[in-house]
Amino acid sequence: METIVNKTRLSLIRGDITAQETDAIVNAANSSLMGGSGVDGAIHRAGGPQILEECKRIIAQIGHLPTGEAVITTGGNLKARHVIHTVGPVWHGGKSGEPQLLASSYRESLKLAVENGLKSISFPSISTGAFGYPLKEASKVAVGTVMEFLKADSSLEVVVFVLFDQATFAAYSQALQELAGL
Ligand code: ADP
Repeated sequence: METIVNKTRLSLIRGDITAQETDAIVNAANSSLMGGSGVDGAIHRAGGPQILEECKRIIAQIGHLPTGEAVITTGGNLKARHVIHTVGPVWHGGKSGEPQLLASSYRESLKLAVENGLKSISFPSISTGAFGYPLKEASKVAVGTVMEFLKADSSLEVVVFVLFDQATFAAYSQALQELAGL
């Protein structure tokens, strides 16, 4: 499924983000940047040790990566030249700023891509795995935030949501249909 927002192609696919050939893929990391389970583990396994080395250098400088922020590293052995690591919020019931923090993760990742002159970026469904963010709510924040960003900034050519399982793909498809009026 896809649509055009301003000048950018926004697509949803079901698949494995580690195989994407966009300029960057986004990692749903945790604040230690030391790797973990889920998509984080998959990206480090596929990308090799260079990614973790750069993460360690970043952590030596900043201590930890706060929720809602993002940093960029090499893509190591991945087809994507860069990985943008962001920390989505852990779900604590929805009254602890979770929607704002999730929106920030998407926005800060997009900003980093633009600042680095990248033209294409792939996102996983941030926070809806181990971090427990309800899928339907997260999909609306994710698609809504990306669309809002693209309406204001047309420098990216392609943004892809790479959704791992059918339920996640269905939720994001519904959100895109509602928000883009498809
Ligand atoms: P978080 O800790 O932010 O919740 P997770 O990695 O646990 O992150 O889950 C986020 C989403 O990423 C889930 O929908 C999960 O199914 C998905 N996921 C796991 N592996 C991959 C992969 N290789 N490519 C794309 N998405 C993946």
